Amino acid sequence: MCPLVSTPLIGVLAVQGDVREHAHALERVGARTCAVRRPEELTAVDALVIPGGESTVMDKLVRAFGLQEPLRERLRDGLPAYGSCAGMIMLADRIADARPDQETLGGLDVTVRRNAFGRQVDSFETDLQVEGIVEPERPLRAVFIRAPWVESVGPQAQALATVEHGPAAGRVVAVRQGSLIATSFHPEMGGDDRVHAAFVQMVRSA
Ligand code: GLN
Repeated sequence: MCPLVSTPLIGVLAVQGDVREHAHALERVGARTCAVRRPEELTAVDALVIPGGESTVMDKLVRAFGLQEPLRERLRDGLPAYGSCAGMIMLADRIADARPDQETLGGLDVTVRRNAFGRQVDSFETDLQVEGIVEPERPLRAVFIRAPWVESVGPQAQALATVEHGPAAGRVVAVRQGSLIATSFHPEMGGDDRVHAAFVQMVRSA
């Protein structure tokens, strides 16, 4: 019998960063996953997650592994993708405080500032409302680790979450543009799978 609901295969870009945590979160919400390190592996997936880690290293490795052009091409063709933290930086069209030779894959009409929260709060947690993903009565506990923020949101992208309290209040930390989502924070670490669930749902309906 044909299954009524197909299980999407979601690749996790596996050149650097917290690949396993994302794979586990995706599997908990019903996706199949595979690690993407080579262009052939990218061809097989229905969607992609770009994990947190270090965007300068990720960028170098993506280029060294011959993945930059294939990734850009699939993203241009509408591959659904979710980027967390360094992954958000990789999906941004523009970055502030980038290393001089740093490149991104692009796709999101945003400017993202690396390491934006500064030294005192370079790692912190806060409760967030995330539009379309979190119910107002049950905010998401978001974990930030040397995180970027979205300095400006271009006309094609949409802000989904802003920091509510403290010195960074008002800063945008989650965005969406079509089938691309990015968060400054790490939902794969907080034990709350709602961002991954929303992404998988989006992939299913794409
Ligand atoms: N600061 C890192 C960078 O610039 C991102 C940190 C993270 O992914 N936790 O890439």
